Amino acid sequence: EFDVLVVGGGPAGAAAAIYAARKGLSTGVVAERFGGQVADTMSIENFISVSATEGPKLVAQLEEHVNDYQVDVMKNQRASALTQGDKLELTLENGATLKAKSLVIATGARWRTMNVLGEQEYKGRGVAYCPHCDGPLFKGKSVAVIGGGNSGIEAAIDLANLVEHVTVLEFADSLKADEVLIKKAHSLNNVTIITHAQTTEVLGDGKKVTGLTYIDRQSNQQHQLELAGIFVQIGLIPNTEWLEGSGIALTPFGEVAIDAKGATSIPGVFAAGDVTTEPYKQIIIAMGGGATASLGAFDYLIRHQST
Ligand code: FAD
Repeated sequence: EFDVLVVGGGPAGAAAAIYAARKGLSTGVVAERFGGQVADTMSIENFISVSATEGPKLVAQLEEHVNDYQVDVMKNQRASALTQGDKLELTLENGATLKAKSLVIATGARWRTMNVLGEQEYKGRGVAYCPHCDGPLFKGKSVAVIGGGNSGIEAAIDLANLVEHVTVLEFADSLKADEVLIKKAHSLNNVTIITHAQTTEVLGDGKKVTGLTYIDRQSNQQHQLELAGIFVQIGLIPNTEWLEGSGIALTPFGEVAIDAKGATSIPGVFAAGDVTTEPYKQIIIAMGGGATASLGAFDYLIRHQST
C-alpha cells in the first residue's frame, strides 16, 4: 500500500512524485509512457531557467530527478479503474490492483489531430499544437490555424502579433468562437478567415512543412496554401476515460475538477496538470500543479493518520 500513488508520468506526475517522496511518504508512480507529451516535443524555450531544451532531454532529466528518491516507478502500465472502498484502489489494465491512502491523478491530455496525410510526419517540424510554445518559432512567416473555436481564434490573435500572416481554416460554415474574439480577429489585417474549409493534406519537403491543401466544401474545389507552420486547434482531450464510473467529478469537457489544493471530489484523491480544470496547459503549470497536489495529499494524510 502506498501513501501516495501517482497516476501519470508527465511533468505533473514527476513533480508530484518528488514532492511526495521528499515528505518521507511511500510513493508509487504508474505511467503508461514516462515523460508524457514532453516526449513528443522538439524544442522547449519556455521552461523558466532553462533557455532552450528538447523534449527527450527534459524527459531524461525528469526521470533522473524522480530516481534520486525512493519512488516505485511502474512504467508501461495503464490504469483502467479507480475504486474507493476502505482504501483507494487502482486497477491496472494487466489486472493487477494497487492500494493507496491517497492518489494523485496526472494522466494529462492529448490534442485532437486532423488525421490527414502528412500530419504525423511533420509533427514538430511545422505541425504544432501549442501557440504559447511554438509561436515564436514562426516569426516573420506564414502560418495556418486549423479550427475556428475559441482556442483557434485565440491562437490566431496571439500568432498575428508574432508572424507575418495567419490563415484560419474552419470546417463549418461559421466560426464557433466567442463574438468578441471573432471581432478582434476580423480587425487584424494579417488574419484571413476561411470557412467551409476541410484540410486534406499537410505538404512538406521531407524536412519541414511547406503548406497544406484544403477543399472548399461549398464549391468542392481544392486549394493550396504556402505555409511554414500549421497550428491544429480542434480540441484538447483530457485522459479521463479510465475514470468513468469512479464517481469522481468531471466537467462536461471531461476534465477532473480540482480546488486550489488540487483536491478532487473524492477525499484523498488529488489531481494535477493537463487532466484538470487548471487553465493554460503548460509544462511549468503542470509541474506546479503536481507539487500542489502532493502537498495537498500530505495535508490530507496528516489529518487522517489512523486510516
Ligand atoms: P502529460 O504530459 O500528458 O503526461 C500524462 C502522463 O500520464 C503520461 O505519462 C501518460 O503516459 C500517462 N497516462 C495517461 N493515461 C494513463 C493511464 N490510464 N494510466 C497510466 N498512465 C497514463 N508546454 C510547454 O510548457 N512548453 C512547450 O514548448 C510545449 N510544447 C508542446 C509541444 C507539443 C507537441 C505538445 C503535445 C505539448 C507541448 N506542451 C508544451 C504542453 C505540455 O507538454 C503539457 O502541458 C504537459 O506535458 C502536461 O503535463 P501532464 O503531466 O499534465 O500531462
